[in-house]
Amino acid sequence: EILRAPEFLLGAAEPHQFPQDDQVEIAFAGRSNVGKSSAINAICNRRKLARTSKVPGRTQQINFFSMGEHARLVDLPGYGYAQVPLAVKQKWEKTIHEYLTGRPNLRVLVLLMDVRHPLTDLDWQMVRWASEADLPTQVLLTKADKFKRGRVAAITLEVERELNKVNGQFGVEAFSSQTYLGVEAMRAQLAEWVVA
Ligand code: GDP
Repeated sequence: EILRAPEFLLGAAEPHQFPQDDQVEIAFAGRSNVGKSSAINAICNRRKLARTSKVPGRTQQINFFSMGEHARLVDLPGYGYAQVPLAVKQKWEKTIHEYLTGRPNLRVLVLLMDVRHPLTDLDWQMVRWASEADLPTQVLLTKADKFKRGRVAAITLEVERELNKVNGQFGVEAFSSQTYLGVEAMRAQLAEWVVA
């Protein structure tokens, strides 16, 4: 089972530090505090996997984890933290843009958005970059336990409708690392993407 034992490989701030081979990569991205670490940990069945720094203003890295022999999980630095200095935000943009648009290893982007306020400006920026890069993108609407099922379903449809206006392949699923809603589905998806 490829997802049971992801191992931290390295953190990279510059493209020349990215692993140089042809392993498939699945990247996770989202606003800081969206629940990305919790989601990765739930999906990978680990208590502590995501090592992204939570300290605002700190240089943030792209963290690479191995998933089995032939694939990696890539944890992109959380964006949108209000207190971060402009220079750090610009560096974030450059690093993420370079990774998303210039990484042949990258197969799928998992883009996390809070179900309570999806499609923020920076989320749209990620969507545009994914579209530019022709990168299939799975949106997870996190913290779905915060709303009743009907409301989550309505928001899921609305986000799907919005993303249908953009060129590219976008899927939208509700997710909660608290109730485990969507966790099994994501594990199955990951396993499929990795072997496909
Ligand atoms: P990250 O900054 O995106 O890695 O977010 P974290 O995983 O650290 O989570 C940020 C905050 O949201 C923490 O207080 C978590 O306990 C909370 N959180 C994460 N996932 C969920 C969820 O599925 N449901 C709820 N209600 N809270 C969550």
